[in-house]
Amino acid sequence: MAAERSARRLERMEDLVSLCARRGFVFQSSEIYGGINGFWDYGPLGTELKNNLKSLWWQRVVRERPDVEGIDTAIIAHPRTWEASGHVEHFSDPLVDCRACKKRFRADQVGDAGPCSARQGSSEHDFTEPRNFNLMLRTHIGASEDAAAVAYLRAETCQSIFNDFKRVRETSRQKIPFGIAQLGKAFRNEINPRNFTFRSREFEQAELEFFCHATEREKWFSHWTDERMRFHRELGLAGDRLRTRAHATDELAHYARAAVDVEYLFPFGWQEIEGIHDRGSYDLSRHGEYSGKDLGVTDPETKEHYVPVVIETSVGIDRTCLAVMVDAYAEETLEDGETRIVMRFHPALAPIQVAVLPLSKKLAEPAHRLESELRRRFNVFYDDAGNIGRRYRRQDEAGTPFCVTIDFESAQDEKVTVRERDSMEQERIPIGAVGAVLAERTGALR
Ligand code: ATP
Repeated sequence: MAAERSARRLERMEDLVSLCARRGFVFQSSEIYGGINGFWDYGPLGTELKNNLKSLWWQRVVRERPDVEGIDTAIIAHPRTWEASGHVEHFSDPLVDCRACKKRFRADQVGDAGPCSARQGSSEHDFTEPRNFNLMLRTHIGASEDAAAVAYLRAETCQSIFNDFKRVRETSRQKIPFGIAQLGKAFRNEINPRNFTFRSREFEQAELEFFCHATEREKWFSHWTDERMRFHRELGLAGDRLRTRAHATDELAHYARAAVDVEYLFPFGWQEIEGIHDRGSYDLSRHGEYSGKDLGVTDPETKEHYVPVVIETSVGIDRTCLAVMVDAYAEETLEDGETRIVMRFHPALAPIQVAVLPLSKKLAEPAHRLESELRRRFNVFYDDAGNIGRRYRRQDEAGTPFCVTIDFESAQDEKVTVRERDSMEQERIPIGAVGAVLAERTGALR
């Protein structure tokens, strides 16, 4: 029984990094060339996990909300976008160089720099004065590499929501208050990518910009803070490893009225996975000013013409995936002294929902029949090789919540054994009921 087993949570990130590489969740991008710092590839299991997370976000934030529209914009926006948003001028981190070892650090993180490898008689770095380093990744559009063709890979997904605000509002016939959401890649030339995927140079964000009248800003800010916490709890990130942290007034961006971070307790400390911000009317006003278009709205009753206030929720998909993996990881010592690593994902997030495991290759026919029936509803893995205990362990590491084994009795009694990942309990049920039983047990999030 689960209660009798001792379980150890993830303590060292290296254990998760190695599991992720070993099982193909996430690994260095361009691995065969030695990797590229700050870029990661998701393998088959990681991609399924991430896709499940993204669909759940889309489901909760867009589909279930009559007052939210979802869009998908180009990664490269008109360069004026980033002037209007303030990114060209302000989106920078202070960096320092070490004159001896030539390494670069964020000025606010030199405490973590470690010893200098190049100085004689001292292990202290010889730092330059801090200078600002713009984090936007630049590229050139068109055949000529002149300044006129400079463009940026988006540093956040929300700016094109502001660009498209007027058209989306008009075409969807939404009235204030309403929101526009988008999910996609963002790019930042981070000075020190680190902590696995936590700080990457290419990552995914899921953002909602909710437009309201200034008189309702507190109400919507608190509504969305509650909604987003509910979402994180639903993923299983509950309890004492999830918290909100309100920004102090001196931490706020100059245009922001309020900000709350959703933080998770990683092995490397409390860190932000989502930001909820009251951005005021700064964005729409700036884009209105830079584009020369009126991005204001007119209240149909009072006829007041105003620029809406924006409440933003901005979550990192990769960071949340990392939190989900950290949270799911457990090393258990079983009654017989053996240890198993088990990823206790919520069944609806698990990359594979069910594994079909015939006890013998001779049972391939009924096993494949069940497999193809289940494939219409779940992500299924079929494995007929090796001893059953080892096959269960592999599924535990992948986080598969259910394994269905077919044995020689199955042909007689039309029953199969369903084994549950966390309790390891086994139950014999009619083969025809497997689909419905699993749908009920895995489908809670959908
Ligand atoms: P940080 O202070 O950690 O750099 P931030 O406050 O700049 O983050 P935001 O601009 O508010 O982050 O972005 C919203 C979300 O996008 C973050 O909560 C995080 O989940 C994600 N995110 C931001 N930068 C990165 C990154 N370099 N790698 C992975 N995810 C990121």
